[in-house]
Amino acid sequence: KIKQIAIYGKGGIGKSTTTSNISAALAMTGYKVMQFGCDPKSDSTNTLRDGRYIPTVLDTLREKNTVTKEEVIFQGFKGVYCVEAGGPAPGVGCAGRGIITAVQILKQLKVFEELDLDIVLYDVLGDVVCGGFAMPIRDGIAEHVFTVSSADFMSIYASNNLFKGIQKFSTSGGALLGGVIANSINEDYSKAIIDDFAGRTGTQVVGYVPRSVTVTTSELQGKTTIEAAPDSEQAKIYLKLTNTIAEHTVSKVPAPMEVKGLREWAATWADQLLAYGDAGRT
Ligand code: ADP
Ligand code: SF4
Ligand code: MG
Repeated sequence: KIKQIAIYGKGGIGKSTTTSNISAALAMTGYKVMQFGCDPKSDSTNTLRDGRYIPTVLDTLREKNTVTKEEVIFQGFKGVYCVEAGGPAPGVGCAGRGIITAVQILKQLKVFEELDLDIVLYDVLGDVVCGGFAMPIRDGIAEHVFTVSSADFMSIYASNNLFKGIQKFSTSGGALLGGVIANSINEDYSKAIIDDFAGRTGTQVVGYVPRSVTVTTSELQGKTTIEAAPDSEQAKIYLKLTNTIAEHTVSKVPAPMEVKGLREWAATWADQLLAYGDAGRT
């Protein structure tokens, strides 16, 4: 049975970087993997393909009215299958149909069965305000959802919104929450904040990824860290995270905070961090 995992998070938080490193690490350990970018930026998979971009499902559909497998599925590092859903024309919008259409086309083409995949990773922009982005959760496309979050409030806010979406669709067969992938965690206080958030919302942190220049240099070479710097500390961290996700089996309904509660919670952290500063930090 295919394991289908959706990875959400606010724009720029590190979803594509993290997802691509997980895909690369899975492929390296023998899994047949597809990475499905659900972000109108359509840059999810390029570090799996030496920095090269691929045509998107929606662009191809707009141009030709039909789509074949060869036109939208491309292999990258260690054979990872790469797909980019793409997005609607800027300023036009799609009433949430964009990602839905892209996933339906791949289903019609029987891609998932024919490629005999072990794992599909959906790299999804957003905090689930629009039906398009909620689709992998809502229609039970994915079984497990993870969120990439730093300790910054906006990122936590986006994750909390995602949890609301998961909770809402959980009664109608939607995907459940696997946990938080904590990114850009370099300080004890960042770890403490993200741990506290996960604990209060009924979930868990499945991995802590520091911000690292190795990720930057790898990206500038058009590669994942797994490919460009396989012996680095950062690669080891991605490998460990990948094992945790590959072995993950039981996801849960989260307990998101209300907006007011979330703000109050954030304010308690402001007090704690100020006290921390007084105790000798800058
Ligand atoms: P998203 O897909 O969430 O929009 P990206 O994965 O494209 O975000 O990451 C945004 C930028 O942050 C990229 O330039 C990426 O290299 C950088 N980045 C993400 N995670 C890390 C990290 N752990 N260390 C260093 N740079 C990172
Ligand atoms: Fe994007 Fe959703 Fe708007 Fe479509 S409806 S354009 S997916 S935000
Ligand atoms: Mg991205």
